[in-house]
Amino acid sequence: AGAREALARLVRDVPDYPEPGVVFKDITPLLADHTGLAAVVAGLAHAGRDEAGRPVVDVVVGMEARGFILGAPVALALGAGFVPVRKAGKLPRETHAVSYDLEYGSATLEMHTDAVGAGSRVLLVDDVLATGGTARATVDLVERCGAEVVGVAVLMDLAFLPWREALGDVAVTTLMSVG
Ligand code: 5GP
Repeated sequence: AGAREALARLVRDVPDYPEPGVVFKDITPLLADHTGLAAVVAGLAHAGRDEAGRPVVDVVVGMEARGFILGAPVALALGAGFVPVRKAGKLPRETHAVSYDLEYGSATLEMHTDAVGAGSRVLLVDDVLATGGTARATVDLVERCGAEVVGVAVLMDLAFLPWREALGDVAVTTLMSVG
């Protein structure tokens, strides 16, 4: 409940960013607010616990760049480690790479091949689910390592976009649906 209230109060709609017709959800006021940040981190971490509140994940994977900011404190809350998924060319050692289509062109995400052990249980964390392309590519990267995706946890989903289809039967926790 605290997380929902914080999201409603502290996420700003920015019309026509990054291009005309898009309404961008700006989470920086939320990040700047200690109470709001604590509430949403606790809300996301809930996705990595069982009914008794025990952590069920070994690793939190966060997607560049806002998934880094949110994922690291979620990992600490769960007693888990944190692994970054980055845009192409940023990681220094051997990587798995997955490319996916954008409206114009394509994007590539990478993860170190040894970042997540086979059989590890992984929670994915990001700020916003839109088309689901970023989350889908990250699920594929984690599965390339032989690890298991327990779920995807995000602050917000854009309900008018087809992220559910992109993610198939992957469990999704979203603190707020918009649109
Ligand atoms: P998707 O791949 O699902 O289409 O887009 C999700 C990715 O783009 C996420 O990594 C997210 O950070 C970013 N993104 C897309 N739309 C928005 C938005 O309105 N606000 C924010 N903060 N991020 C967005």
